[in-house]
Amino acid sequence: MGPNVDNVESTPAFPTRAEVVVIGGGIVGVATALALVDKGVDTVLLEKGVVAAEQSSRNWGWCRRTGRDLRELPLIEASMQMWEGMNQRLGRECGFRRHGIVYAAHDEKQFERHGRWREAAAEHGIDSRLLDAGQMRRLVPGLQGPVFGGLHTPADGRAEPQKAAPAMAQAAIERGLNLQQHCAVRSIERAGGRIERVVTEHGEIACQSVVIAGGAWSRLLLAGLGVTLPQLKVRSSVLRTRPLAVDVEPCLSLGRVALRKRLDGGWTIASSSNNLAEVTPDALRFLRLFWPAYRVEREILQPHLGRQGLDEVLRWRPGQAERVSIYERIRVLDPAPHRPTLVRMVEDLKRALPAFAGLQVAQSWAGLIDTLPDAIPVISTVENVPGCLVATGFSGHGFGIAPAAGQLAADLITGDVPCVDPEPFRLERFRHPHDVRAQHWL
Ligand SMILES: Cc1cc2nc3c(=O)[nH]c(=O)nc-3n(C[C@H](O)[C@H](O)[C@H](O)COP(=O)(O)OP(=O)(O)OC[C@H]3O[C@@H](n4cnc5c(N)ncnc54)[C@H](O)[C@@H]3O)c2cc1C
Repeated sequence: MGPNVDNVESTPAFPTRAEVVVIGGGIVGVATALALVDKGVDTVLLEKGVVAAEQSSRNWGWCRRTGRDLRELPLIEASMQMWEGMNQRLGRECGFRRHGIVYAAHDEKQFERHGRWREAAAEHGIDSRLLDAGQMRRLVPGLQGPVFGGLHTPADGRAEPQKAAPAMAQAAIERGLNLQQHCAVRSIERAGGRIERVVTEHGEIACQSVVIAGGAWSRLLLAGLGVTLPQLKVRSSVLRTRPLAVDVEPCLSLGRVALRKRLDGGWTIASSSNNLAEVTPDALRFLRLFWPAYRVEREILQPHLGRQGLDEVLRWRPGQAERVSIYERIRVLDPAPHRPTLVRMVEDLKRALPAFAGLQVAQSWAGLIDTLPDAIPVISTVENVPGCLVATGFSGHGFGIAPAAGQLAADLITGDVPCVDPEPFRLERFRHPHDVRAQHWL
């Protein structure tokens, strides 16, 4: 089971029409819906399970500029400004706190990579600092073992994944959003080539536009429209502890283990260096496109042949209007955490920071990260499908960037001046595989 998410009540009346239907109640769909209702657009948000039950509540909650792909910097900068005012905008707590983020460098090569990113980011006005070993130990009291240095962005922060998307959804409802949970979209239908309606398990909704913000399901939703999205899944395991007083303020990645303090006094513990790349039919289908990214990330990714692959062979098919679909059969993607990773993480943490020796594990879970070959999202209209917009493929860092991603998606739908240049996020970029490249800075 994933972590408990703050409850949001669905709107009592089922809608029969809307200007825009947003599919997917993760943080990206919710942020898009919030931006749309703020523009006065008649919007319906459909979620097959409950708001934020998949990736958006299972993540670490880091809101980071640090180490971002340079193409994402304008979007994350806009997002961080939105996070700063989020509690006020929503009139409720989403947990955002600006405590900084630190990535340790374990050797000179990594430290130099951090330095190159810092220089490039400085040109975008981002204030990140390189720390030597002494500065690292002052910032992280009690840190044991060898440390070469680190990369620190003091203005980065963290929010609470179990609160943020529900708080945004609640605020959007108060501004006129119609939210339907336990409402799977089976198919998206067109008339004369244009989006005309969506068919859900509870009935049809006529609309002018749809936003596909289905996280790991977006590929299947697009396949139903005959559109190919090269999207794969990576399983990542997480645990949270009971409240524990330890004096580490920034979110901290030590490579094999990463940690952050939670608003409830506990800690979210994870690892950026041990993720399972699920071997599925799509992994073979898109091998060529993903190969450069896999080579860049191979130290932190292990191919894994297991249940997800089998499930996709047997059951994952695009939905059809008149039939019970896979989206209803799997209300919430809830993969099992990888136990050996959890055990190793805790051991590494206790070695690096003995103040955690007495930690008590309260819960563990895993999430399926949806990834694209260049590890930056698609926020884009779809050629030849007027009325369809996609906002997906956030590749393990969509929580922090979601507020501005939702704003950009809403701007593209309404035709307003986009909050940032949408060009890097166009879906059509995958037509030219040689231009698709992933960068790894951390
Ligand atoms: C373990 C882990 C750690 C992470 N750490 C961070 C981090 O620290 N910082 C960060 O920025 N990002 C992080 N991420 C990534 C981040 O969580 C995701 O990028 C982000 O949550 C994606 O949001 P989303 O709305 O696109 O997708 P999701 O949250 O997956 O939401 C998609 C929703 O669409 C719904 N849906 C799909 N199909 C249908 C349908 N047919 N009908 C109705 N509803 C449908 C699903 O039920 C789901 O709720 C992490 C992810 C994981 C798993």
